[in-house]
Amino acid sequence: MKMKKIACVFVLCLVFVATLSLAQSQEVEPIEFRKLSDRLYQVVGGRGANGGAFIGDEGVLVIEAKMDKSSVDQIIAGVKRLTDKPIQYLIDTHSDGDHVTGNQYFPGGTVIIAHENCRKEFFHKLRDGTESPWNDPKMAPFLPSVTYRDQMNLYLGSAKVELWYFGVGHTTGDTVVYFPEEKTAFIGDQIFLTRVQLIHSYKGGNSFGHVRNLTKMLATLDAERFCSGHSEVTDRVGIQAQIDQMKARQQKVRGLIEAGKTLEQVQAEFEEDEARLVESIFSEIKASNRDL
Ligand SMILES: [Zn+2]
Repeated sequence: MKMKKIACVFVLCLVFVATLSLAQSQEVEPIEFRKLSDRLYQVVGGRGANGGAFIGDEGVLVIEAKMDKSSVDQIIAGVKRLTDKPIQYLIDTHSDGDHVTGNQYFPGGTVIIAHENCRKEFFHKLRDGTESPWNDPKMAPFLPSVTYRDQMNLYLGSAKVELWYFGVGHTTGDTVVYFPEEKTAFIGDQIFLTRVQLIHSYKGGNSFGHVRNLTKMLATLDAERFCSGHSEVTDRVGIQAQIDQMKARQQKVRGLIEAGKTLEQVQAEFEEDEARLVESIFSEIKASNRDL
């Protein structure tokens, strides 16, 4: 009997420790507004990608929607602490869940804006082949209601905000949100400084497009500061380094393909965490060789 009791307590302890460590691994940093100028903030923390907030003359523009109600509630509260102006616009830089799931928790009347291709991608099957939750008609009110093709400007009173599309890259519909006075661009997931770049081939993303896209961005915008979904703020040198790194990978993959290597053999020449990206580059080169 006594042994049974001890065993029971032991099991309970194990369950407790397991629950605790699960809770810790799911622990989420609170939302934080990092000041970039009197009107512009980087929004970090919460569940989902880093984004931004810009206080216009009459209303507020938010970039990225995070992925749960608590994170969005913290964004709304954070905006309230800075201004009594309402949230007017929400920009989804692309269709990944960590950027758009929170659309549904923003105040009614918020105008959600994205690139036309991004809106289409909302309905795309997920990477594991399951249906997108956005195919449920109940989600319709939270889809982007305004889209653009190449470029659009928003005027929040005297302040101009530019939305730019530079072509296929991380996905097929990545928006760069540019604040000319602050010389600051929010570029979604078009760079990962500390992780290997993600290219969503299953949605139509393309690594060669990614290189063209970022090169065009540097040539078009006189931005000095670049904020992204999952990295620290960087500068033009940081972006150029990412372009160069991607080009070097592409060149290496091309050389190995020309030497007759299979995908597995090519992947073996790279780090383990580059496997998925290398697979994308490999299929892109194979496909373009077929087109020649
Ligand atoms: Zn992301």
